Amino acid sequence: MKTTLIVGAGGVSRVVVHKCVQNSDVFGKIVLASRTLSKCEDIKNELPDANIEVAQVDADSVEELVKLISTCRADIVINVALPYQDLTIMDACIATKTPYLDTANYEHPDEAKFEYKLQWERDEKFKEAGIMGLLGSGFDPGATNMFCAYAQKHYFDEIHTIDILDCNAGDHGYAFATNFNPEINLREVSSKGRYWENGEWIETEPMEIKMVWDYPEVGPKDSYLLYHEELESLVKHIKGLKRIRFFMTFGQSYLTHMKCLENVGMLGIKEVEHKGQKIVPMEFLKTLLPDPASLGPRTKGKTNIGIVAEGIKDGVKKKIYIYQVKDHEECYKETNSQGVSYTTGVPAMIGAKLMLKGIWSGQGVFNIEQLDPDPFMVEMNTQGLPWKVEELEA
Ligand code: NDP
Repeated sequence: MKTTLIVGAGGVSRVVVHKCVQNSDVFGKIVLASRTLSKCEDIKNELPDANIEVAQVDADSVEELVKLISTCRADIVINVALPYQDLTIMDACIATKTPYLDTANYEHPDEAKFEYKLQWERDEKFKEAGIMGLLGSGFDPGATNMFCAYAQKHYFDEIHTIDILDCNAGDHGYAFATNFNPEINLREVSSKGRYWENGEWIETEPMEIKMVWDYPEVGPKDSYLLYHEELESLVKHIKGLKRIRFFMTFGQSYLTHMKCLENVGMLGIKEVEHKGQKIVPMEFLKTLLPDPASLGPRTKGKTNIGIVAEGIKDGVKKKIYIYQVKDHEECYKETNSQGVSYTTGVPAMIGAKLMLKGIWSGQGVFNIEQLDPDPFMVEMNTQGLPWKVEELEA
């Protein structure tokens, strides 16, 4: 029987655990480990009949991770802790020769810098250890990269432009809250925008470029250009690409709150002195904001995330839209989690399932779009994330 080690016990982890249990013939025993043991126990208690063990681990420590992976003899490590832990978990996987999967690229706690460099640098070590490391198996990155790979494989000879369109039209009833880890989310959206055109990165002010997109089953929404990590790997792996951009929807209330918090320095990630103590404003803000995991029962509405790709097939211009729509309340009914955790956790489970079954294999570090999209797309349809393809006028 296989053993699956899941690190982190937050919103995304809850979904991964539920979905792995639904696919227990592949995942076998689940070991759920995180910094706070009680959070692992809470998830375990939701699934009393499942084969789950819990453990406490500080995932900033390679030594602790190596001990845990060796003791439980994990066949795979699913990293759904924070991006800060990517490198330590990867290093522990190298040391124990254990396959690795994550959903977000490495970030240093002191810099809002989103790049694959330090993870890609571990490629040789993964090869030497004879193991596979799969990067970015969430929704975006993750399913969106798969949509691009699927479009490349089945619809185009060359893709010239891609827009990734991420809409969360969920309403949780709070004036301001984030749908996943507040620190990670606010660092991402308050950073400068960036897109790639004709071989160059073009930087914009945060939220400088806006368009309105009519999202199927949701309606027209203001969508803002952001830098998002999958752009970095997709420019390397999609043939003939001339431009790629990422847009995300934000409501006015979210933007107004963010602007005010930014103006007063609450989004700062450097330490400041407060009554003789050092605090990081963003970390303090996180303690004040609703825990994303608590949004599940209150969130109504849908998510719609997809890609629009334009290019050439057999000498003719072509434009397609691949997207996935998910209802927050449906997600909660199935996994006690809102849609953003759900749409991230399901692709993490799918990636791990394909690795454990040997359908995806290889040695080294891979971004998800380097792998065959077909089995992933089939799994999405059967694991709760059905998608659609529409042909648009080119
Ligand atoms: P949460 O903050 O809800 O959960 C993170 C978990 O990691 C918590 O259980 C936390 O423990 C644990 N953790 C943090 N630091 C450590 C540590 N040093 N050692 C052990 N455990 C630790 O985050 P989410 O579930 O919302 O997000 C999980 C991951 O998914 C993040 O990397 C995020 O960027 C990514 N993500 C990816 C998306 C995609 O589409 N690709 C979309 C959304 C999220 P504690 O509670 O004790 O601090």
